[in-house]
Amino acid sequence: MSGGLKVTVAGAGALGLSCALALADAGCTVTVCDPAPWGDSASGVAAGMLAPVFETLLDSAGGHDFGLLVAARDLWPAFAARALIAIDRSGAVAVGSESWMEGVAAGFVRLGLPLSEVPPPAGVAPTFSKGFATAEDWRLEARAALKSLRVAAAAAGVTFLPDRVEALAGADRLVVATGAARGLGALVPELGLLTPIKGQILRFSGGPDGGPSLRGEGIYAAPSPGGLAVGATMEVGVADSRVDEAALRPLIDAAGRFLPALAAGGWVASAGVRAATPDGLPMVGFSRDPKIVLAVGARRNGWLLAPMSAGIVAAVVTGRDPGRYAARFDPTRFA
Ligand SMILES: Cc1cc2nc3c(=O)[nH]c(=O)nc-3n(C[C@H](O)[C@H](O)[C@H](O)COP(=O)(O)OP(=O)(O)OC[C@H]3O[C@@H](n4cnc5c(N)ncnc54)[C@H](O)[C@@H]3O)c2cc1C
Repeated sequence: MSGGLKVTVAGAGALGLSCALALADAGCTVTVCDPAPWGDSASGVAAGMLAPVFETLLDSAGGHDFGLLVAARDLWPAFAARALIAIDRSGAVAVGSESWMEGVAAGFVRLGLPLSEVPPPAGVAPTFSKGFATAEDWRLEARAALKSLRVAAAAAGVTFLPDRVEALAGADRLVVATGAARGLGALVPELGLLTPIKGQILRFSGGPDGGPSLRGEGIYAAPSPGGLAVGATMEVGVADSRVDEAALRPLIDAAGRFLPALAAGGWVASAGVRAATPDGLPMVGFSRDPKIVLAVGARRNGWLLAPMSAGIVAAVVTGRDPGRYAARFDPTRFA
């Protein structure tokens, strides 16, 4: 079906690795190039939430809708089984002020979800009297998932090179999955449409290594084996991945108000840069150049959208039907 196409994938983040695995499974000969595969890419620092419910309710700038995000999440069980990635399906619990919880409750109703009221989770500020829980939002451990994807891709025959891609070189197709980087802008003008959004996240040691994520007003806390991940800043237009304590201060203070034990400190911060398109949805599919395929611009849902994006990329490269969501991700839609 693929005719043994030689495909270079630029970028070994969540999108690049997912595309590489899907392309190899579709019969392509795949090389992934990334000069800094374990650097501070957005994929490595992410909280790893696969969260159609709260991303729909709390991120109206995302350009997505609940149906799309649920469809993306529903591709995860098979994809995770293929790449041996562990998924935590404990769900998520919203906790906040009474007026904010009214908005959450209205959102649950709007999405057709049962309003499941639970006691406030242990450790949250005593001013919060209840939580609303959903089992629809899941989570993975981002660093571990990157490693698993790399192992699965290598086992499927993908070659890895520590190189920066600058041209199509000898490949039949180039998949550009370079996150917020603009280095390939001369070759791929569509990258000029991306806005960087720096995200800083705190990891507090200790606590449970799994269980429901907590969602509050402008904050989340996700228990994980690497510590409690508390995030995240949304610094629009900022493209560096340095930890900047001044910009982190509001998040640090919010963490202490949300989970008072966190006021004692003990966090380690990391930062990554997300890439956003003008309408909030990623650009996935052929660019204007018929040899160049994009998988960029997944904003704050790159992990959630990775299997869907990889499926679209493998389909367009091998001439198969890319499915119902491909048109919404079409990179040429801004032309
Ligand atoms: C703090 C934070 C929290 C987040 N939380 C979540 C979450 O809970 N759930 C979720 O779904 N998403 C989350 N995200 C968003 C998600 O991390 C991103 O959307 C996703 O990781 C983007 O993946 P990517 O592969 O497109 O880019 P990246 O992860 O940025 O990877 C791009 C790679 O391309 C490489 N590269 C750049 N230029 C070149 C070149 N010329 N040649 C070769 N390689 C190149 C880079 O070295 C890098 O490794 C979060 C992001 C941040 C910052």
